[in-house]
Amino acid sequence: MTQRESSNPSWRPATNLVRGGLTRSGFSETSEALYMTSGYVYESAEEAEAAFSNDIDRYIYSRYANPTLSMLEERLCLLEGAEACATTASGMAAVFAALACQVEAGDYVVASRALFGSCLYIINDILPRLGVETRVVDGTDLAEWEDALSRPTKCVFLETPTNPTLEIIDLAAVCELAHAVGARVIVDNVFSTPMLQRPLQLGADIVVYSTTKHIDGQGRSLGGAILCDAEFHKEFVTPFMRHTGPALSPFNAWICLKGLETLDLRVRQHCENARAVAEFLEGQPGLNRVIYPGLASHPQHDLAKTQMSGASSMVSFELPGGKEAAFRFLNALEIIDLSNNLGDAKSLITHPETTTHQRLSDEERVQLGINGGLVRLSVGLEDPLDLQDDIARALDFSALKADRAVRR
Ligand SMILES: *Cc1c(COP(=O)(O)O)cnc(C)c1O
Repeated sequence: MTQRESSNPSWRPATNLVRGGLTRSGFSETSEALYMTSGYVYESAEEAEAAFSNDIDRYIYSRYANPTLSMLEERLCLLEGAEACATTASGMAAVFAALACQVEAGDYVVASRALFGSCLYIINDILPRLGVETRVVDGTDLAEWEDALSRPTKCVFLETPTNPTLEIIDLAAVCELAHAVGARVIVDNVFSTPMLQRPLQLGADIVVYSTTKHIDGQGRSLGGAILCDAEFHKEFVTPFMRHTGPALSPFNAWICLKGLETLDLRVRQHCENARAVAEFLEGQPGLNRVIYPGLASHPQHDLAKTQMSGASSMVSFELPGGKEAAFRFLNALEIIDLSNNLGDAKSLITHPETTTHQRLSDEERVQLGINGGLVRLSVGLEDPLDLQDDIARALDFSALKADRAVRR
């Protein structure tokens, strides 16, 4: 069966989101084909032998490669400006593979402290168990990076904006410090999406995604991706992926291909809605903090503007009255769902202290600025006025209840 590819290197991002990497089968289908197959058959024993000795380039087994995954990988490369991509079964599989494929006992790895909980677990618990020395730093403090990066370093791992306090890390500055000591920089770009921030252009070597978030964007599938140059992909990522097996399901890859078609539109609307909600929150009397990189009040607003083309869909804020007030507020919401997920069409809110960051020590939480009053909101695609009404009603309710509790 003949296959027809329809990519063109001069296409702009919006066109690549819809058509990049599309390879049509002999049936000339409109939509990307879903190849739910674990293996592939050979015309002859000789062909199988040639495939295994790499004399011919063809699909062998879906743990190695699959045509639906290839379409997604090609599309993600075009978006990111990367030479190569490996998709993975989850975002965490991407993070772990990106690190584990290159480190060995005796290596030294530096990471920012404000990480997605499971990423911090890999840095603080798993890598040291494998004999890798790790150090975490305050990602916003360049002096701390400089101090940590004053000796040969294998990798730097960071995310920006950070979870859940939305701090911005200076990517270009950290990459320069890292490269001076021979480190490869891995950026977890989930909060920004490829639409808002291009770490490779700022000097990073590897970008990882959880496609579970904005790339699917509608809460249907887990997935991840590693983007890097062709040489690193060939030498480190490919053998690790093939022999340890965190391959993405073709079905989930197909969902992501369909998700990417609307990523640009959705992310733009997410950002617009998040800004509206953040500005509304800033106007509410009595909140301790409203954190959104797009607000002039954000301590790194100017840095955010230099490395991001939009301020993201995430807004965090702190209620006075600690955990009790936060729980009253969360339980009073009618539209916004309580969920630790993010980047979904539905607005989702979580209480980091008792959920995503529950495992951390009190001291670690203080260092990260996480306290009982803090909530993290992933702003969805509902009408922002309805979200504001929902928040206003829940804030009133929690304040009234607090008031009554005091009077009683
Ligand atoms: C969700 C997330 C991950 C992990 O992705 P999964 O798909 O849940 O495994 C990693 N980093 C960040 C920043 C995330 O938000």
